[in-house]
Amino acid sequence: MNFQDLKLIPPILKALAKEGYTEPTPIQEQAIPAVLAGRDLFGCAQTGTGKTAAFALPILQRLQEQPPGAAKRPIRALILTPTRELAIQIDDNIRAYGQFTKLRSTVIVGGVSQKAQEQALERGSDILIATPGRLIDLLNQGLVSLKQVQILVLDEADRMLDMGFIHDMKRIIAKLPSSRQTLFFSATMPPEITSLVDSLLNDPAKVEI
Ligand code: AMP
Repeated sequence: MNFQDLKLIPPILKALAKEGYTEPTPIQEQAIPAVLAGRDLFGCAQTGTGKTAAFALPILQRLQEQPPGAAKRPIRALILTPTRELAIQIDDNIRAYGQFTKLRSTVIVGGVSQKAQEQALERGSDILIATPGRLIDLLNQGLVSLKQVQILVLDEADRMLDMGFIHDMKRIIAKLPSSRQTLFFSATMPPEITSLVDSLLNDPAKVEI
């Protein structure tokens, strides 16, 4: 199997070739068709499996195929992740995979000045990658709207729970349209994760690596 077989569009194939990726990893092979088809996804996978591209590539493709229309781009995909380092790494990957698309991404993380993040939001962004705490701060200040989000990714959901982010996650999710696609990744399956999966996902495709 190669990336063409997964029906990825030319600007994404070009970026993958430039990155030196020749074939999809097992999680990519299983997840990409399901996400392109608009399905919810539950992925039980560790970092290092190619998980980021498994969600990032089909998200870029879905957004690229539906131009935003409005002059100021609304956030159409939200990726929540537990740490600043992971958020930055996901953004770096998205910029690399999306370099031949017109899509823009922004990172919202704590521990750094809020000003630059506000300016990036003001310019408009298709994809937002955030840690829950700083995103809640910006939502409370009315500086970000999630009303147009079509795709939500919860990355490393078990770690977000361990870090005490459950309330922030629930408050953020409550601000999203209920009709959306949700992609949920966790390396472990404690009971709290199972109940979150049951409450958030609608007939998900399941991928286990
Ligand atoms: P992740 O599990 O998303 O953290 O990815 C682990 C590493 O594998 C990252 O450095 C990616 O750039 C790389 N990677 C992801 N998918 C592929 C692929 N299909 N071929 C080669 N490298 C990949």
